[in-house]
Amino acid sequence: MTAPGLQTPGVHTPSWPELATAISSCTRCPELVATRQRVVVGQLRQQSRLLLVGEAPGAQEDEVGEPFVGRGGQLLDELLEGAGLHRSQVSVANVLKCRPPANRTPKPAEVANCRSWLTQQLALADPAVVVALGATATGWFFGRGSRLTELRGRPHDVDGRVLVATYHPSAALRFGPKGEPRRLLQADLELAAALLAQGRADA
Ligand code: SF4
Repeated sequence: MTAPGLQTPGVHTPSWPELATAISSCTRCPELVATRQRVVVGQLRQQSRLLLVGEAPGAQEDEVGEPFVGRGGQLLDELLEGAGLHRSQVSVANVLKCRPPANRTPKPAEVANCRSWLTQQLALADPAVVVALGATATGWFFGRGSRLTELRGRPHDVDGRVLVATYHPSAALRFGPKGEPRRLLQADLELAAALLAQGRADA
């Protein structure tokens, strides 16, 4: 399937630093601009074949300017390790680059405003496998109304990339160490690692 806005033929693809500079000065969402401390651009790991896509920065990410540095980030690191992966091997980006006040769910208009930034990051990172963490990231790829519970657990083809949809680490934290979201997030990260190891791009 083709994610809306995933490809923009004819548009110049800037370097990551150029893109980061442009994103950092973005003012498309007035409410977020008024409340954010920092724009959290994301992290591109050269030669990484895996890109994790989350929802938006939280309080700690907003404070330090990096993605997944709070409790959710620690859990993500732990689960990545459990799948035989390390954060240093993984590129990370969010659907929104600015923190919504009180961590509210991103508004559709904000997701639309920010869409071109993630589209360009995808083009630059060019990952073999993308993992969408949570409902917002899953909706970015599959459209609003898509159901994570129906999509997770198997690979999908989105514009020639393998995409795995799964729970966000914050859901895994909310339901606790023995909750289903944590178990399924771990299983889906293991699936992503297995797909990387197989070199599959034809799921
Ligand atoms: S969330 Fe995205 S579109 Fe909105 S102000 Fe931040 S960088 Fe710009």
